[in-house]
Amino acid sequence: MPAPPPDKPVYRFAPSPNGFLHLGHALSAFLNHDMARTNGGRFLLRIEDIDLARCTPEFEQAIYRDLAWLGLRWEEPVRRQSEHFNAYHAALDRLTEMDLVYPAFLTRGDVKARVAAYEADGKSWPRDPDGSPLYPDHDRYRSKTERRRLIAEGVRHAFRLDMGKALGLIKAPLNWMETGDGACGEIPADPSVWGDVVLSRSDAPSSYHLSVTVDDAVQGIAHVVRGLDLFEATAVHRLLQELLELPQPAYHHHRLIMGPDGRKLSKSEGSTGLAALRDQGLSGGDIRRFVGL
Ligand code: GLU
Repeated sequence: MPAPPPDKPVYRFAPSPNGFLHLGHALSAFLNHDMARTNGGRFLLRIEDIDLARCTPEFEQAIYRDLAWLGLRWEEPVRRQSEHFNAYHAALDRLTEMDLVYPAFLTRGDVKARVAAYEADGKSWPRDPDGSPLYPDHDRYRSKTERRRLIAEGVRHAFRLDMGKALGLIKAPLNWMETGDGACGEIPADPSVWGDVVLSRSDAPSSYHLSVTVDDAVQGIAHVVRGLDLFEATAVHRLLQELLELPQPAYHHHRLIMGPDGRKLSKSEGSTGLAALRDQGLSGGDIRRFVGL
């Protein structure tokens, strides 16, 4: 196929095959698809399957089936993140060469225990926008020799970004252009609220933040259209784009579809799952109306 003209804006829907799609995914997929069509752009599908333990071929096949049933068509070949670990590794190497990455040896359980001990006398440990405790300073100041020794001993570790050091390299104010359903216009990005984010883990060779940033650049995504639950994460993506000298897309974070309990839908909720709605005899057009389009 001849390469499409570079001036066509590129959109992507990027689900993770770790569960079945629900109405919230349908809204996201419709919006990306429709914006691409309205703006004479391209609509890509990206399978975000870096979490090898939770993503399955069955869930991936269900994504193709559900999207086709919604009446959507996407370009082939689909980019599957599990086939591009080299690209994420190269980005991690580059950040490592910049001396911005350190091995982090505390398990989730270790962090939890430290935080609980700290909070036992009424103090509160800082949390990120998703409510997880920030990673303690613990490993950031270890010597190179000690890091090497622990790794050689086979101690499991993740690689984390030294947020303070990384921000020290950013000279201009960090922000992004937003057109979504929340705050709009030029949004100031403050990635420090996430602390030293994970870039790769022993069980997942790349983190969401790293792979999404690399892929949006590789695929030339001009407009990132996704749910408002990822609004705050954009600050980290903007930081990684600056550090890795990648282009900056515009962002559109759309409203979320809430369940009957007023909470955002989860992949385990059968009643709002697309497959269940299809089995009830509904059509893609019905789903468009259900999600308010
Ligand atoms: N894979 C992410 C999810 O399923 C979406 C990532 C993105 O759109 O940036 O929630």
